[in-house]
Amino acid sequence: MNKVIVLAKRPVGKPSLNEFKFINEEIPAVNDGEVLLKTLYISVDPYLRGRMNDAKSYVPPFELNKPIQSGIVAEVTESKNPEFKKGDLVTGITGWKEYQTSTGKGLTKIDKNASSLSSYLGVLGMTGITAYMGLIEIARPKAGETIVVSGAAGAVGSVVGQIGKILGCHVVGIAGSDEKVELLKSKFGFDDAINYKTTPDLKATIKNACKNGVDIYFDNVGGDISDAVMSNLNKHARIPVCGAISMYNSTMVPMGPRIQPIIVTKSAMMQGFIVSDFYEKFPVAIKQLSAWLKEGKLKYTETIVEGFDNTPQAFLDLFEGKNEGKMVVKA
Ligand code: NAP
Repeated sequence: MNKVIVLAKRPVGKPSLNEFKFINEEIPAVNDGEVLLKTLYISVDPYLRGRMNDAKSYVPPFELNKPIQSGIVAEVTESKNPEFKKGDLVTGITGWKEYQTSTGKGLTKIDKNASSLSSYLGVLGMTGITAYMGLIEIARPKAGETIVVSGAAGAVGSVVGQIGKILGCHVVGIAGSDEKVELLKSKFGFDDAINYKTTPDLKATIKNACKNGVDIYFDNVGGDISDAVMSNLNKHARIPVCGAISMYNSTMVPMGPRIQPIIVTKSAMMQGFIVSDFYEKFPVAIKQLSAWLKEGKLKYTETIVEGFDNTPQAFLDLFEGKNEGKMVVKA
């Protein structure tokens, strides 16, 4: 039998395991033009929370009692599609299923000899590319500038900070534990890092860590953390708004300081983006990220959760900060 994870009901506020349901299906027959995929790795991502709401967005909401979808790495175990053969490894966005058929549309073949298959969901996948696009295409850092990144020890944030260092910037990360702060400084080469959960005056601590002010704020979290960074901006600061995980489970729109006066007086530029806005440039980003990895300039860490059945819990754990780097499930 083939296990499938569906959205059983829409969460209100913080999601829980009650919103997920496991069902059993027959492993589907493969029709002409199709392949059968065996799931090897599943990406769990904060943005999936938004797709659980019945709300219009840049991607349609998940349908109730239909499989959740996210990025996966899979093996082709049977092929009736001339583009693929048995044993090929692929990545793409598909359902949370142990096995599934595909016409091949949206699947990309990956190197069978790759040292890490899961990296195609992280540093060489959506989150690595997001870091690259937000920083390089939107913020356009110059050597000597100061970058602050929130969600710094996560999949996107850890890559943002390292690219900032490669480009000669002063980089300060904000993360939610002393272990993450240590990881940022020791493994990823951040100049400084701040534990937002234990720092009594975040605004003053950021000011102290950024002696020359903040030129770029790469925002992954929104909320109070972003408010504290915004008051330290320099003139002509750039703020790529990548995500706002602190608000994804809010049922009320949270209120913070009005930021428009800061944007005006600092001649700052704040720009939201979705990584797919830069789809044409993905190959450039992947080539550069791969080169930096090979040269040892870029490092990564992953939190790999074992077992397909643990996929919903791995997703929930993102909101508790239980991951360092990319959170991935090994099915
Ligand atoms: P991640 O950072 O690997 O994992 C989420 C992290 O968020 C957790 O480890 C936790 O770290 C932090 N967090 C959770 N709740 C928080 C809260 N209430 N306040 C502050 N921090 C909180 O996830 P990711 O995949 O790299 O994504 C990071 C952000 O980028 C998310 O907002 C995501 O939606 C966004 N994103 C956007 C795009 C795009 O195209 N725009 C693409 C990918 C991701 P701590 O322990 O530090 O709290």
